[in-house]
Amino acid sequence: MVPYDIIRKIPKVELHDHLDGGLRPQTVIDLAHRHDIPIPSSDPTELAAWFEKGCKLKSLRLYLETFAVTTAVMQTEEALRRVAYEAILDWHAENIVYGEIRFAPILHTMQGLSMDSVVRAVLEGLEQGRKETGVQFGLLLCAMRSLSPNLSLEIAKLAVAYRDRGVVGFDLAGDEKGNPPKDHIEAFQFIRNKNFNITIHAGEAYGLDSIWQAIQVCGAHRIGHGTRLIDDMSLDGLHIESMGDLAHFVQDKRFPLEMCLSSNIGTGAAASFGTHPFQVLFRNHFRVFLCTDNRLMSNTSLTKEMDIAVTNFGLSLKDLEKISVNAMKSAFIHHEQKLDIIYNVIKKQCADLRREYGYSDWN
Ligand SMILES: [Zn+2]
Repeated sequence: MVPYDIIRKIPKVELHDHLDGGLRPQTVIDLAHRHDIPIPSSDPTELAAWFEKGCKLKSLRLYLETFAVTTAVMQTEEALRRVAYEAILDWHAENIVYGEIRFAPILHTMQGLSMDSVVRAVLEGLEQGRKETGVQFGLLLCAMRSLSPNLSLEIAKLAVAYRDRGVVGFDLAGDEKGNPPKDHIEAFQFIRNKNFNITIHAGEAYGLDSIWQAIQVCGAHRIGHGTRLIDDMSLDGLHIESMGDLAHFVQDKRFPLEMCLSSNIGTGAAASFGTHPFQVLFRNHFRVFLCTDNRLMSNTSLTKEMDIAVTNFGLSLKDLEKISVNAMKSAFIHHEQKLDIIYNVIKKQCADLRREYGYSDWN
């Protein structure tokens, strides 16, 4: 069993982390008090438990309701800068060396900020964090499935406008059921015409058709979750006996899946850690890696997600290094930058850790 201390130190890459799902409880309290926003508790421990309880109700709809509180306290440039800055500090504390954080700018315009100033404030906070820690980042702008396709197009244009200032891609988030990604096709076409990057939440609460549409109709380059891809396979334990065309396509094209263990258990997208599809996909060489989704609501961190994978799937340190490399290969920054981080940061730090702990091999 890999010691938790080493899991904490191993270089990590986070590609699916919501800015409004990862606030520190104390920050929610500080900002709520400053702006007279009602919150369920002003005790950090109690408040953290309230957020986690919202997640454990096993309903994506109810889960999303807890975000009303976090977005309510993120309506000023100062608050957005602080939350973004602290996200980078928290990543640094668990040795995330590169991360992509995402948020929906439209949800932060309730007090009159423009989407443009919202994005600028978040980028300033992230940049301040990068300067202090060296953690490299990319920002993803989310459109919401339940909001108008015209708004999605506007956000797609905003993402492209900021491509040289830290924004690295576009995402579609929100409740999958009854909100197919193809409704937002114009936004995706805009991004594709500009040679930019797309990730789409799909196959979390809803099935294969959602994943297929995201990839083949909307042109996604990564999938958020993709948990239900397992429905396109017949299994004998961890062995895949046969696969449908979609699962073959995803595997053959090395299509990246951003998998979130604790989040899936919380929302009911997977029944238990032991039966989560991650293990089958990882052991059968799909391009999968671990992400947190919402650190606050799932009471998690990337270190905890890796520890869950070690405990439930028997992953070795070599496996954890592979997960970091898989994620880095799937990042939305340029190829040369990715190679630099893979070889000069991830592999180098892993070699140093091997020496420090006296491992001749990760296994
Ligand atoms: Zn998500």
